[in-house]
Amino acid sequence: MLTEILEINESSLKLSKKIILGGGAVAFPTETVYGLGANAFDTAAVENIFKIKGRPNDNPLIVHVHKDYDISSLVSYVPDYAATLAQKFLPGPLTMVYKSKGVVSAAVSCGLDTLAIRIPSHSGAQKFLKYVDIPIAAPSANISKHVSPTAAEHVFADLNGKIEVVLQGGRCAGGIESTVLDCTGDIPVILRSGLVTREMIENTVGKCGEFVFKEGGTARSPGMKYKHYSPDCPTMLFDFADREKAFNEYRRLADGGINVCLLCDNATAEYARFAEVINLGSTEGEIAANLYAGLRTGENKYEYIIAVAPEKQDGAMAGVMNRLKKACGSK
Ligand code: AMP
Ligand code: MG
Repeated sequence: MLTEILEINESSLKLSKKIILGGGAVAFPTETVYGLGANAFDTAAVENIFKIKGRPNDNPLIVHVHKDYDISSLVSYVPDYAATLAQKFLPGPLTMVYKSKGVVSAAVSCGLDTLAIRIPSHSGAQKFLKYVDIPIAAPSANISKHVSPTAAEHVFADLNGKIEVVLQGGRCAGGIESTVLDCTGDIPVILRSGLVTREMIENTVGKCGEFVFKEGGTARSPGMKYKHYSPDCPTMLFDFADREKAFNEYRRLADGGINVCLLCDNATAEYARFAEVINLGSTEGEIAANLYAGLRTGENKYEYIIAVAPEKQDGAMAGVMNRLKKACGSK
């Protein structure tokens, strides 16, 4: 199959709709990462998404809809706090989990009685979702367990030959996957951290819990138990306070003839002029937006990535740290 990256216009949207209604998959941009979308009503199409990615079949998908879609046709109950949060943060990088009405294919939620819904703010995502005007089940458009794609070219690198169309939406401004929020209980509970932070949710509705997955425990969100986001080369992660140790490790590997790079924010890069550096930038927004592209550059150009965590690790950086740990913890 020939894979094409197409600018978003009437003809690519028309082709995308034809592919979706025919049971195929289309990659599309969002403000977080690129998604691989299929018709959420079509079980074979949803199962095909799992097959293309090599995704474990107990890790449910998020359903994406355009901003005017009536989600009450999909879910049975939206608590008041969820309506308030939706009003404030949607469209945007927040996925909300509700009790499902069971009208989309059961394959989307892998048999759970809940449904995760997201309304992305990216104009290209909105155009695509509006044009097809059906709920689109979509995980990130990468091979399972690899780094999520934040550019159309990243999708191409992973899925070339496996899908027909990647809609071109430029670099993703957010850069890490959406916050996943369980809205089935009395208070919202964060299942996956992201750019809509716990503080932002608490400031809006008062209370917000956070589910922390412990190895061997029960996963409230099945994705929690999987290693994710790993580059195809060995990695090591050092805390900001251990920068000197990271530099020493860098020198040890480089002296041994290993083509190694240092992946860090600008604050650390300033002290690492001696090293090959992938500089993620200075602000929280830059660091999140550049993280996955940085990991992909690292695996493509180098044999070894030594990552140094940013100093600040709360707020939006909690999501970055979660991904960095998953990326660097697995090898
Ligand atoms: P991805 O599409 O790769 O960004 O992953 C989607 C994330 O949403 C995974 O961590 C899933 O476990 C989580 N998710 C999707 N549907 C549900 C659901 N119904 N309940 C809890 N978590 C969900
Ligand atoms: Mg993913």
